[in-house]
Amino acid sequence: MTTILGIWAHPDDEAFVAGGFLADAVRRGDRVVCMHMTSGEGGLLDRQPCPPETLARVRRHELQDSLASLGVEEQRSLAYPDGYLDHVPVDDVVARIYDALVEVQPDLILTFGRDGFTGHPDHRSLSANVTTALEVWNQPEARLYHAVVSTEWKDRFVPPLNEFEVFWPGYPVCTSSDTTLHLDDELLDAKVEALRANTSQMKPFFDAYGDDFMRAMASTEHFWLPDRVDHRIQEIDGVASTVDFEHNARAA
Ligand SMILES: [Zn+2]
Repeated sequence: MTTILGIWAHPDDEAFVAGGFLADAVRRGDRVVCMHMTSGEGGLLDRQPCPPETLARVRRHELQDSLASLGVEEQRSLAYPDGYLDHVPVDDVVARIYDALVEVQPDLILTFGRDGFTGHPDHRSLSANVTTALEVWNQPEARLYHAVVSTEWKDRFVPPLNEFEVFWPGYPVCTSSDTTLHLDDELLDAKVEALRANTSQMKPFFDAYGDDFMRAMASTEHFWLPDRVDHRIQEIDGVASTVDFEHNARAA
């Protein structure tokens, strides 16, 4: 059994960035733990301003539903300030991530690419801090996966998503990947359900673009293995769970 630790900045990141990957891992029988650094209180509620305490409470509930849709049963939350994660002393954040690494003992750590996927400063600083924590942890067998955006995905989906200012100016920039996951129907259903569970954040997209767009947007996920020497493109077709994950993870 592989143990996977997903490290995210906000509730909904896990579904938006890697919901299929996480659901596939659960289906395969792997242990999946998600850690969220903030409660997401700095966002909007259905595009409207919302008191932070109220939004944090809403998003905690939404996160429970999102994770349930993906089958993820282990979650931990750190209450760092949403929108200011890059202002928190690095040593503090790295220490908390290190603690999680020691406690969870993951074989695979999954987080944002260096560009933060959307370019959000919280995402970018977290990606860097995860790398630092891994260096301190110093477990060479553990693999790091960065969730990134492919060129095709960027061209097709970033412009409409940016009608809602999802991506920061100049982002995303990580447009090559080692692994592409094509979600099968079961994984796609789980991921779309997880996205829909994050109602306060995702409802505007479902309302504006409809289910077909959301399913298409959610149907592929791309990952970069930043410590790999051999950057071969690897396509995972069809049923993702047939992939020999251990073999792939250690092939390089
Ligand atoms: Zn986020």
